[in-house]
Amino acid sequence: MAYNKSCRLMKVLEHIKEGKGKTQFSFETLPPLKGQNIQSIFDTIDPLMEFNPPFINVTYHREEYIYKEVGNGLLEKKVVKKRPGTVGICAAIQNKYQVDAIPHILCGGFTKEDTENFLIDLDFLGIDNVMALRGDAIKNETYFTAEKNGHKYAEELVKQIEALNRGEYLDDELQNHAQTDFCIGVAGYPEKHSEAPNMESDIHFLKKKIKNGASFIVTQMFFNNKKYFEFVDLCRAQGIDVPIIPGLKPLSTKRQLNVIPQRFGAELPDALIQEAIKCKSKESVRQLGIEWCIDQSKELMKAGVPFLHYYSIGRSENIRKVALEVF
Ligand code: FAD
Repeated sequence: MAYNKSCRLMKVLEHIKEGKGKTQFSFETLPPLKGQNIQSIFDTIDPLMEFNPPFINVTYHREEYIYKEVGNGLLEKKVVKKRPGTVGICAAIQNKYQVDAIPHILCGGFTKEDTENFLIDLDFLGIDNVMALRGDAIKNETYFTAEKNGHKYAEELVKQIEALNRGEYLDDELQNHAQTDFCIGVAGYPEKHSEAPNMESDIHFLKKKIKNGASFIVTQMFFNNKKYFEFVDLCRAQGIDVPIIPGLKPLSTKRQLNVIPQRFGAELPDALIQEAIKCKSKESVRQLGIEWCIDQSKELMKAGVPFLHYYSIGRSENIRKVALEVF
């Protein structure tokens, strides 16, 4: 399959419409660690372009606290951003590949003013899809805390983006000014968000994000398609009628057997765990993960999902192997 560079920049909903019921390929990448150049990002994207992704998501990474020894047993607290560059990478992707780049934007670490300025930059760059997320608690803290004059939940962030789409800026004197035109995506959790007391409550707040202006949902990764199908049914029963794009990641190491349930709240099916434990080499775990993900992808495709959205986590080889079998 050849990379078709004639793709037009569009909203996610328009891409879905243009797909005419055919499942399309998309993926998420992350900014490289500070100190690397843009080529390192292109190197992970290039091998996936032949599958013609209409859009590529770029994650946002908030600041972290690190503690540096400064002698006499004293520690200095420093705020660092290890993976900056989300906006620049999105602009570079749109420029180089002529496909939509979707930056993730967070509540965490942003005041409303920061958010507005971030959105203005995106608008000027011709980026008109965004994923609106709350973000997690900062490392070393247990609970998420919003900035003073920031947003506590993604639904509030969605509201601000929608206000800007109507030309309503934070400054009262700037009402009825240039309108932005963002198509907003939000996160959904087929196995419930870790902080939600139950699924009903989580879907209640997901519905609020849609009511406030979000147009599509991208799910957290899952390894059992049944969870996705049940989640979609629950959402539909609650009147959530926007596209729900499944997020997938191939298991690639034995360590992820512990990390994935803990960090992403995704349960791993017993059959997958048992097979992974039996694997005698790193390569055989990777192969197992790829095959599992191919099976998941094929079943979801058969069910008519609009996109299969893969979490590359900065590495494209495994996703490429899955896509070669599926697209
Ligand atoms: P919210 O929708 O705000 O929900 C958070 C919790 O609060 C949920 O339990 C919800 O039920 C509850 N809740 C929501 N609204 C209310 C309310 N009004 N009152 C009371 N409770 C409420 N993290 C990053 O740091 N960078 C990224 O780039 C990134 N990309 C992601 C992409 C996807 C597709 C997904 C699924 C997750 C991503 N994350 C990212 C992780 C995400 O930031 C965390 O999962 C975070 O903990 C929740 O974000 P949210 O937008 O779902 O939050």
